[in-house]
Amino acid sequence: MKSLRFFMAFTALSLMLFAGCKDVVDHPVNPVNPDLAEVVPTSCTNPPIRSWLFAQFAIWGQGPTLIYASEELQLSNLAIFHALYFENSSENQYYGVKGEYTDQINKSLKDLKNFWDIEAKNIVTVAAHGSMLQDRGKVIKMYTKIYGYSNEKANKYADSLATLFKIYPQYSNGDHPAFTFNQLAIPDTLFANVGQVPAKIIIGDGSLQGFDTLGYGKTAPQSILAHEVGHLIQYDLGILKPGMKLTPKTSRRFELMADAYAAYFLAHTRGAAMQLNELQQVAEVFFNTGDCEFTIDGHHGTPTQRKAATEWGYNLARNADNKDHIIGSREFASLFDAVLNDIIKK
Ligand SMILES: [Zn+2]
Repeated sequence: MKSLRFFMAFTALSLMLFAGCKDVVDHPVNPVNPDLAEVVPTSCTNPPIRSWLFAQFAIWGQGPTLIYASEELQLSNLAIFHALYFENSSENQYYGVKGEYTDQINKSLKDLKNFWDIEAKNIVTVAAHGSMLQDRGKVIKMYTKIYGYSNEKANKYADSLATLFKIYPQYSNGDHPAFTFNQLAIPDTLFANVGQVPAKIIIGDGSLQGFDTLGYGKTAPQSILAHEVGHLIQYDLGILKPGMKLTPKTSRRFELMADAYAAYFLAHTRGAAMQLNELQQVAEVFFNTGDCEFTIDGHHGTPTQRKAATEWGYNLARNADNKDHIIGSREFASLFDAVLNDIIKK
């Protein structure tokens, strides 16, 4: 029974941790969301980064993993959602547990803002650090304001967290990548109990650490950021709208299109101007963010589809006659939609 619970916790974690970028929404202005092909399950293997993360849970053991997966404690979400709701300034942000990715993220954000034709100057980028879990005030604020727990319950859970960090050194006091293994983009939004939150990208240390472990430390930070900017472009164009009902086929399109936006920027001479060997690494990064969960509403496309979308995006820049010209974001979306059916056949 216990192993069944363990397995179920693993499955639930798999869905939670890889359903990032899911704050998406509905009906578009122009370009209108086209009719989309249904998601048809194909031969699909989970990518290496999932195996790496699940290996981490195996190292932790059942007890700490089950506690981590507790819906009551929300340990996998607290740090990411705290950044989403309460960190509203890019000032003094650092990326990575020791700030090791800060320069890459800051430079890339500046370049992305200059590259795309969207209202970008107010976009905020913030980090999610697991150290937040040691900040009692922040933890209680999350439990009361976001999860609606009573003060008494929130205090009790904050005590539990402090105790858990003492009992389980595997948690590394919250610095373990599993506590911040996600990234998200949200448009300017008014939240009840919180107030106005600006258009924002949240990058968890855990994702960056995970990709670094797999050898993508130089390309993953820029790739992830450029992908999330892709989602903000979609919001800007009305392709995504807050509150939109997601289905596997709509989520797949949003994710693959965001990969393509990212790859185009990363390859373009006026963007990140990456060489082919680096772009092939970017394709591997996005390959790793694919999934085989064909029936969930937040399906992100399979690993091979994500690689194909990335290759399409960077080849569009590399093969252009006029290398100085930047395709407008709206035209880009139309070009992408025209090839989507080919990409999903991969
Ligand atoms: Zn995404």
